[in-house]
Amino acid sequence: MKICVVGTGYVGLVTGACLADAGHSVICVDKDAEKISLLKKNRSPIYEPGLDKILRKNSIVFKTEIDREAVSSDIFFIAVGTPPNESDGRPNLNFIHEAAQELGEKLGALKGKAYKIIVIKSTVPPGTTHRVEKMVRKGLKKNSQVKCDIVFSPEFLREGSAIEDTLYPDRVVFGVESEKAAGILKKLFASMIKQKDPAFLLTDIPSAEMIKYASNAFLATKISFINEIAYLCELAGANIDGVSKGIGMDRRIGKAFLNAGLGYGGSCFPKDTKALDHLAGDHGHVFHLLKAVIDVNNMQKKRFLHKIQKVLDGVENKTIGVLGLAFKQNTDDIRESIAIDMIEALVERGAKIRAHDPLAEKKAREFFSARGKDVVFCDGPYEAAKGSHALIIATEWESFAGLDLAKIRKTMKKAVVFDGRNLLDPQKVKKAGFIYHAVGGHERGS
Ligand code: NAD
Repeated sequence: MKICVVGTGYVGLVTGACLADAGHSVICVDKDAEKISLLKKNRSPIYEPGLDKILRKNSIVFKTEIDREAVSSDIFFIAVGTPPNESDGRPNLNFIHEAAQELGEKLGALKGKAYKIIVIKSTVPPGTTHRVEKMVRKGLKKNSQVKCDIVFSPEFLREGSAIEDTLYPDRVVFGVESEKAAGILKKLFASMIKQKDPAFLLTDIPSAEMIKYASNAFLATKISFINEIAYLCELAGANIDGVSKGIGMDRRIGKAFLNAGLGYGGSCFPKDTKALDHLAGDHGHVFHLLKAVIDVNNMQKKRFLHKIQKVLDGVENKTIGVLGLAFKQNTDDIRESIAIDMIEALVERGAKIRAHDPLAEKKAREFFSARGKDVVFCDGPYEAAKGSHALIIATEWESFAGLDLAKIRKTMKKAVVFDGRNLLDPQKVKKAGFIYHAVGGHERGS
């Protein structure tokens, strides 16, 4: 089929690449000319395992606007950003409105009969897809012979395993009101998904919009819950490792998202929990549980920062090595990264930071230089630790778990490790001569 994907970020580019790899003819449109120019040179503007290979293998067409060739596509995916507004944290829907208007105008200029399906992949509050539909239809002239159906399909991919998640999804949800569109989309996704019987769930459009927010809010709840339990472990003399394991072995609970740490970050959980909280408020409902989840997440960073300041007797003029800048491992994304928040807070308190991340250094460098914050970026973890009074593990990169701690110990001014991701083996860290602080209890060295 002929597919046009509008917005080539983590979601759009991966969707386009996987559909192209399944044999469809794909055009990717992004208004960011720099991104498009990189992509035209076969270079990906984002890191995602396996993505480069798929991009090289398939001839996707990249454009900065929905031109005549793009508008001739059968199916349009809209995957533009819906970032939080700085003022109140509500999702900014301007990008999706712009994309809908542009698409409506371009479809309106088409001559002759045509049937198009527009699929919204961006995360949007219930009611948005119907409003977007009106915007698209406004572009179609009264006598237009273009028929179109609009569908909302929430995206569940995780950065760092986006290709895998797209090809082997737990479920594919379509909020859809047209049987014809549902049939075509099921066929399209089945051609891309590697599982035998993909789990399709068809719902009405607002329910599909809600499924995305509810899923992320539930996962965020698990994280805040385990972080509260971890704190209680510290107070009550228990150990979070055993507690998490013991909880997770219950199949009704499951072991995923029960790792205590610095809290959730990234471009989705913080934004989507806030958006859902606003949605509740707009309907006159106080979502007490969700508010607590958000508060606990904010508190978690502060608790850790407080621990660092207390142990080091203040951080002013202290050199601190920070391992990890990305919001999680296997990505170069630093949006709402707790590692970045932590560094900002430490710099504000006069600390000198030596940071390292396997992938996210470029983005972090741009971020801190735009804010006039001095951070030294180091080529590797050993370099970052050199001459520091303490080492913080801020992102759970697997490579950090296997570091030669004795080697690190020799180059540091003081032997203190703050493990914000409970990544290291406490016994090994202590054996290497470190004072070890982590999240959640005696064995972890609270
Ligand atoms: P992103 O910021 O990486 O990419 C969005 C892209 O859209 C940008 O390249 C931007 O230039 C482009 N864009 C904006 N307006 C445009 C327009 N009018 N025309 C063409 N291009 C335009 O965002 P993302 O991380 O891919 O997320 C996209 C959406 O998917 C968001 O709503 C997000 O909440 C949701 N989502 C993201 C993830 C994730 O892990 N990143 C997972 C699930 C859902």
